[in-house]
Amino acid sequence: MNIAVVGTGYVGLVTGVALSEIGHHVTCIDIDIEKVKRMKQGKSPIYEPGLEDLMKANIERGRLDFTKCYEEAFAEAEVAYIAVGTPEKADGTADLRFIEVVAESIGRHVQRDTIVVTKSTVPVGTNDYVRQLVEKNLFENVNIDVVSNPEFLREGSAVHDTFHGDRIVIGANSQHAADTIEQINVPFGLPIYKTDIQSAEMIKYASNAFLATKISFVNEISNLCDKLGANIEDVTAGMGMDARIGNKFLNAGIGYGGSCFPKDTSALVQLAEQAGQPFELLRAVMNVNEKQKRLLVEKAKERFGSLQGKTVALLGLAFKPNTDDMREAASITIAQELILEGANVIGYDPIATENAKKVLPGAVAYADSPEEACKTADFAMILTEWDDIQAVSLEEYKAWLKEPVLFDGRNCYNPAEAAEKGIQYHSIGRQTTG
Ligand code: NAD
Repeated sequence: MNIAVVGTGYVGLVTGVALSEIGHHVTCIDIDIEKVKRMKQGKSPIYEPGLEDLMKANIERGRLDFTKCYEEAFAEAEVAYIAVGTPEKADGTADLRFIEVVAESIGRHVQRDTIVVTKSTVPVGTNDYVRQLVEKNLFENVNIDVVSNPEFLREGSAVHDTFHGDRIVIGANSQHAADTIEQINVPFGLPIYKTDIQSAEMIKYASNAFLATKISFVNEISNLCDKLGANIEDVTAGMGMDARIGNKFLNAGIGYGGSCFPKDTSALVQLAEQAGQPFELLRAVMNVNEKQKRLLVEKAKERFGSLQGKTVALLGLAFKPNTDDMREAASITIAQELILEGANVIGYDPIATENAKKVLPGAVAYADSPEEACKTADFAMILTEWDDIQAVSLEEYKAWLKEPVLFDGRNCYNPAEAAEKGIQYHSIGRQTTG
């Protein structure tokens, strides 16, 4: 089929590339002209494993193109995917500004009957609003259908997830639209779940809110383990053996970040508020997460008394490994808190440094390797478990740091081994050793 994808961020670009890989003709549109130029040359503007190779292959096959021009993209399009951002507004609700602009533009430019598919995460009711906006500008004799097709990929493994995801959700109020979008997706070979539009919109928010709840729940248990002498890893291993609980997504850490969980939990809380059905549990999940982001700094203050004049190596800045995305990364809060305490901060990230420079405080210095960061520092904090950070040996920390004290926000090492190697090792939900 001929498909237009509007927005080439983590979701739009991966979707466009994947749809071309399974045989469709895809034109991706973005307003960022620099991005479009790069993409036309087969260069991905984001770091996502495997993406660039697939991009190049499908450009060569003539199935994938990029443009900033709506006329060009919609000349032949039978289906238009919306994959622009829905960031958080100051009041916590989802900002639909980009969706509105795109919906109106689609209405002005489609020249044949078209199915508009919303991939972006949007509050329940938004697809109806999208329909109204598109229909406002339509040419005579052109009809549209609207489908909710929320995205579940994870940054860092977005390509893999698109081809190996758990399900594809299609929310439609017309059988024809639901069947067409199902047909487009059949070659992925994944379970397809069809429902109405409102339920599809809610599935996305409910899924992210549930995962965020899991994280905050485990983090609360880990803080209790800290106080009561239990070991969070043994606890979650034992919990996870119960099939009703499951053993995935039970890692304690320094809270969730990224471009989805924080804004989506917040949007759902606001949506619930507007519906007169306050979501108390989710509010607590968000508060726990805010506290958890500060945990390592609290531990460091407890250990050192004052952090004034100390230099701290922050290892890993992206919100999780294998991505260059810095949106809502815990490193932002941690760097700010450390600087407020009078500490100097030197950060290291294998991929996200350029993006980090845009959002971390100006006072943060940057190193090109864990070694350089640690050799400048009094002590270190592990914030993101990138492979090259996990590959640093305990002996190296001992040799590099002025004081062999490690605060590990991702539980990368065995506490007993750390103590044996002469490191004072503070981790999450496990006893401090050394
Ligand atoms: P992003 O910010 O990375 O990308 C958005 C892109 O849209 C940018 O390239 C921007 O230039 C472009 N854009 C903005 N206005 C435009 C316009 N009028 N016309 C054409 N292009 C325009 O966003 P993202 O992370 O890909 O997220 C997109 C949506 O998908 C959001 O609703 C998000 O919640 C949801 N989502 C994201 C993820 C994720 O892991 N990032 C996962 C699932 C769902």
